[in-house]
Amino acid sequence: IVDPGGHPADEDRRFEAALRPRRLADFPGQPRVRDQLGLLLEAARRRGAPPDHVLLSGPPGLGKTSLAMIIAAELEQPIRITSGPAIQHAGDLAAVLSSLAEGEVLFLDEIHRMARPAEEMLYLAMEDFRVDIIVGKGPGATAIPLELPAFTVVGATTRAGLLPAPLRDRFGFTGHLDFYATADLAQILTRNATLLGVESTPQGIDEMAGRSRGTPRIANRLLRRVRDYAQVQGNGIVDLSAARAALRLFDVDDRGLDRLDRAVLDALCRRFGGGPVGLSTLAVAVGEEADTVETVAEPYLVREGYLVRTPRGRAASPMAWAHLGLTPPTPSAA
Ligand code: ATP
Repeated sequence: IVDPGGHPADEDRRFEAALRPRRLADFPGQPRVRDQLGLLLEAARRRGAPPDHVLLSGPPGLGKTSLAMIIAAELEQPIRITSGPAIQHAGDLAAVLSSLAEGEVLFLDEIHRMARPAEEMLYLAMEDFRVDIIVGKGPGATAIPLELPAFTVVGATTRAGLLPAPLRDRFGFTGHLDFYATADLAQILTRNATLLGVESTPQGIDEMAGRSRGTPRIANRLLRRVRDYAQVQGNGIVDLSAARAALRLFDVDDRGLDRLDRAVLDALCRRFGGGPVGLSTLAVAVGEEADTVETVAEPYLVREGYLVRTPRGRAASPMAWAHLGLTPPTPSAA
């Protein structure tokens, strides 16, 4: 809760594996992407051929990995999981591609972080189901073409804008995941509380759903902390009073903003007079990587209207000042 981070902690991973929805019909929220994917998969099933490659983009924790697994399950195909940072050489990718079975789903998480030579190999593989294995070096090097079985790439990225256009163009379908509505998060929380064998009340569930930053991963974390609180300090039931007390204890404010969100707004208002200020300066001020501020904190703050991106940098909105209980400086008379 304290650090939403781009990467789930170990506890999250175990918990997430247990609670991931398995089929498209069990996946609440993202109605547009779900309907579009449903159509794509059904058409592929009827044709008996793999579907187009799928790119999923959006902030961390919204369900990209879950959807990749669902795609494989709906196609009744195995899934191979790897990520951009694990593919630093074209050879790493060649090894994965050459061992894929017909129809298999290849999930490439953080695809924007793949090394450039591997990216180029991927274009060819996605388009022609072929890779060129280079043997030898210098002028004597020869390319040996290797045919691959037809497979489906599901790429996931928090930074679609960083993908080179030729790679983006190889994906026949792109789904952008947006923050979840509170009602969808409440549905996810109710299901997960039941799976965990925890008794809950609708008021307790709504309180957590409204303070989860529109993100299922955060909702699941809040559920674990509120459950702990209810079991240790309360009557074991995840109700409104347990939710409020636990979220206060873990520094989640009444709008669901966490420590990093508030640190960003606080630095913007108190240290930089509301901005605009450049991303890297802002990141240094809150002691975080620029990438974390940009991919983890910023999308939600912008969406909720606390932060504004301008050509000259990030600026605090009047809502940010009000949320921190501060008065914005009055513009000086010209
Ligand atoms: P990252 O970008 O960090 O890899 P992600 O977008 O791939 O994150 P997931 O790992 O798929 O996110 O989801 C995080 C957690 O949220 C998982 O526990 C998953 O079960 C849950 N979750 C995500 N979307 C949904 C959903 N629509 N319904 C139920 N649970 C969901």
